[in-house]
Amino acid sequence: MDVTASIERRPTRAITVGSVTVGGEAPISVQSMTTTKTADVDGTLAQIYALAGAGADIVRCTCNDLAAAAGLAKIVPRSPVPIVADIHHQYKMALAALDAGVHCLRLNPGNIKKPDHIKAVAEACGEKGVPIRIGVNGGSLHPDLYEKYGGTVTAEAMVESAQNELAYFDEVGFDDVKISVKASSVPLMIEAYRQLSAVTDHPLHLGVTEAGPPPAGLIKSTAGIATLLAEGIGDTIRYSLTADPVEEARAGRQLLEAMGLRERKNIDLIACPSCGRAEIDVMDVANRAMEAFGDREIPLQVAVMGCVVNGPGEARDADLGIAAGNKRGHLFVRGRNVAVVPEDEMVETLVEWAEYIHEHGVEAAIARVDTTKAAAEAERDRARLLAEQGDDANHTNERIELIRRRG
Ligand code: SF4
Repeated sequence: MDVTASIERRPTRAITVGSVTVGGEAPISVQSMTTTKTADVDGTLAQIYALAGAGADIVRCTCNDLAAAAGLAKIVPRSPVPIVADIHHQYKMALAALDAGVHCLRLNPGNIKKPDHIKAVAEACGEKGVPIRIGVNGGSLHPDLYEKYGGTVTAEAMVESAQNELAYFDEVGFDDVKISVKASSVPLMIEAYRQLSAVTDHPLHLGVTEAGPPPAGLIKSTAGIATLLAEGIGDTIRYSLTADPVEEARAGRQLLEAMGLRERKNIDLIACPSCGRAEIDVMDVANRAMEAFGDREIPLQVAVMGCVVNGPGEARDADLGIAAGNKRGHLFVRGRNVAVVPEDEMVETLVEWAEYIHEHGVEAAIARVDTTKAAAEAERDRARLLAEQGDDANHTNERIELIRRRG
């Protein structure tokens, strides 16, 4: 099934952030932000590389003082991805970041309030062809709007904040803009983005701000971002987690892949939930496999299954999988048994085969082994387990009988 066809993206205009197009027909991009001091050039670059490796298309760095701006001047030419400078209260830092050669600025309308300053930055961006993200934040709304809307943060106030900023930009003929209206409340950010998308065709940057540490932060971010993406809203996304930013980039990338909005780049590891038939600690093997694959760019679906009785069949659509049985790992490729290895070699075998398939293809991988022998071995272990466990290892029939007796 072509899953991308089921999500119709809302049309937006395209803007260019360095080498990455945001909006229009461009793939939805993943963003993250460094946590280093931007003045620490080597430390920041190392983190940018890690973020790019984990799936970030664009990275933001704070530009909070002149030392940070000087750092950006050294970072931008060495960065593998476009750099956005995060500007807080000082509009002069925006001008300094432009001097440093950044590919985009992020301005918070609640922080830089003087119209002259806003227009000066927009004019300078216009001259250099650098876009701006209007980054409205529910937690730092412009005081006038906060008052106007009764001292609470509302979706209407956030949208109006973005529109006011756009109006200032308009006065100097600048419209190279993407917009975010983030809030830490998921329902509020969803409503704000819905309202915003109804009144503008500027590309939208989605996020739940201050989502907190995983797993709650991941859940909140996914709830907000995925809901909007499913409605066709959103052109670029960022998970804001209290965690290593590599986790943000990885989560963003995985969300887009899971929703069929980006092509798979890394391993998609699936695992059975384990049950009465499991011959191994599925969670442990799956976690070790995840760790072993790391950020390797192998776009395959790999399955870890608890038993050879049902595993190869249940995961027959996976590119590659392994199922446990009788202290052995039964490896299968697209549902066909291909090899048997000792249980403690399951993870390294998966990695080795995944690399081989990635390089040579499924057919070549199958051709290098005697599948008849592997299938016979699997059948032998399967029969043995069935004989040991019976055909009701999960006591399903007993439960059904109990239920029946209630009738
Ligand atoms: S039957 Fe086997 S593969 Fe399916 S959940 Fe149970 S242990 Fe996992």
